Amino acid sequence: DAKRQGRGLARLFDESMDEGVRVRRRIETGLSQAIARDELALVYQPIVAHGTFEVVGFEALLRWHTTEYGPISPATFIPIAEESNLIHELGDWVLEHSLDVLKTWPGQYVSVNFSPRQFRRHNFVGYIIERCQRAGVEPSRLQIEITETAIFDDADRAAETLYRLRQMGFRIALDDFGTGYSSLYNIRKFALDALKIDRSFIDGMSRERESAAIVRSIVHLAQSLNLTVIAEGVETAAQVDLLRVAGASHLQGYHFARPLAEAPAREMAHARFVQVEPATGTHG
Ligand code: C2E
Ligand code: MG
Ligand code: MG
Ligand code: MG
Repeated sequence: DAKRQGRGLARLFDESMDEGVRVRRRIETGLSQAIARDELALVYQPIVAHGTFEVVGFEALLRWHTTEYGPISPATFIPIAEESNLIHELGDWVLEHSLDVLKTWPGQYVSVNFSPRQFRRHNFVGYIIERCQRAGVEPSRLQIEITETAIFDDADRAAETLYRLRQMGFRIALDDFGTGYSSLYNIRKFALDALKIDRSFIDGMSRERESAAIVRSIVHLAQSLNLTVIAEGVETAAQVDLLRVAGASHLQGYHFARPLAEAPAREMAHARFVQVEPATGTHG
């Protein structure tokens, strides 16, 4: 898969390597046809409660498989879609399919990423409500993931939007926390339910005292603001151990499961718990 992607990307960048503009334009053109060509898919990664490893929700992650270049990562195409109006069309597709899959899960929520531009669109709240009603989905089963960038440019308006969404019963999670410029102090005025600690901190935990200390202090302060903490990118049993000590209540990462196609995700939703090998007791 990685190999195929490598070949595809090599072809994509090709001789026009120096022409970043041309590559972007190809991606844009491809993206504008992706829905019609049925090239998009969602995968779902479980979010589990620490201790029991009960599956409480799944993050929906977008995949794009191009006929011409093979799979292209969202880290590549989302920023390009974000710079054009395509993000609205893609985002709408993602939301509709994410809400649809909820019907086959017993009770978990789906956590959907919204880019800053989507979040700032005119009447975002009305849009979300309308889509949920149309799908017959309870607001509490949708978690809206936004990043710090989405809320800090126009903080007053963002605070109002989040407040209204939360009043309606939607869950709100701040994604990639710790990588931006916000502190726990200046997020206190936003109506949030969860902080997702960026995986760079989790990755560093078992190697550097500083990362572990940062994670502990994020968890501690989040608790004082009544926020759930979701640790992203958990890959090892040692990290699970350290996160238990730090007090993180929820975990997500390859240690539990890679993002899954719809059918295996549904199976996991019904199994309700993720089975993983027990910790070895070593913190290396
Ligand atoms: P994100 O929202 O922070 O999503 C988490 C990313 O970490 C995902 O990458 C996921 O596959 C990856 N990941 C999960 N567990 C692990 C782990 O244990 N180790 C490592 N190394 N990685 C892990 P992915 O799917 O490539 O998505 C990248 C980014 O693209 C996302 O970061 C999000 O910002 C964006 N994205 C993906 N789908 C959507 C979407 O539907 N809409 C929008 N607006 N953005 C999306
Ligand atoms: Mg996310
Ligand atoms: Mg994230
Ligand atoms: Mg990220």
